[in-house]
Amino acid sequence: MMQLQVLLVAGTHGNEINGIWLFDEWEKSSFLINTHGIKTCKIIGNPEAKKAGTRYIHNDLNRSFKEESYLTNSLSNFEGTRANELVKLYGASGKNPCQIVLDFHTTTAAMGSCLVVYGRRNADLALASLIQNKLGLPIYLHESDQRETGFLVESWPCGLVIEIGPIGQGLLNSEIILQTKLILESVMEQIHQVKNLNLFFPDKLIVHRHIKSIDFPRDEEGNIDGYVHPLRQSKDWQPLKKNDELFCKLNGELIRFEEDEPYIPVFINEAAYVEKNISMSFTKKELWDFRKQWRQSLIDLVRQK
Ligand SMILES: [Zn+2]
Repeated sequence: MMQLQVLLVAGTHGNEINGIWLFDEWEKSSFLINTHGIKTCKIIGNPEAKKAGTRYIHNDLNRSFKEESYLTNSLSNFEGTRANELVKLYGASGKNPCQIVLDFHTTTAAMGSCLVVYGRRNADLALASLIQNKLGLPIYLHESDQRETGFLVESWPCGLVIEIGPIGQGLLNSEIILQTKLILESVMEQIHQVKNLNLFFPDKLIVHRHIKSIDFPRDEEGNIDGYVHPLRQSKDWQPLKKNDELFCKLNGELIRFEEDEPYIPVFINEAAYVEKNISMSFTKKELWDFRKQWRQSLIDLVRQK
């Protein structure tokens, strides 16, 4: 029987450096991290971008895990080549196979910590339920956004993104490092419990389901001509009501929220998303019943059936 191994990734974005710092300290044994006896492999997702102090070199690595990126000329697409390499090295059928991946990110938005789940895979939802039950973290379910695809975790049978913030790009902060450590250890503890079938799944899962992302206000030439309204800034996870202020424009005009549903905004003014023409994303809060098949799928994966 093959042994379970968990891939831990930091620095998928080269300017999100707190996870990388934690891994380096761990490597030098100056920081003890309890993986609860579970084998792990820890890597820097995008070492070239880390050196350059940027999010990426040619393309966002966390949008490069798709066939067409692997095939593009490697000289003009460092990240496509890197994505392909990571799957060959650490994918479930790779050289050094890992069945679960945890991808550690930071955000500049005032969201605190959360889990990001892509699509509705059973094992992901089971693992996310365990962590939500343990730490109370919100879950952002990212799906049905055709503009945004090719996420790292989707190339493994089970994987979660852990977003921790708020922290500026390229900055270290002891609280963010400690938060990364706490979440990492809690996830490993939960995986250990699944391995020993000593597990308690909650009945319900609270999900913030992605609905859509919105752009900044722009002038006729496409330049941003408004900023996030002060009443909206740093108000991630707080439900919007019709007519709530969203943006202030140069000409003094206010742009308001016009939807009828009480969407909940996240990634408000996230620095990395400006280039993606995203000022914030809207989610809908849902309470889901825990499903037996999620549990079984995670158990089968962890116990290698
Ligand atoms: Zn990131």
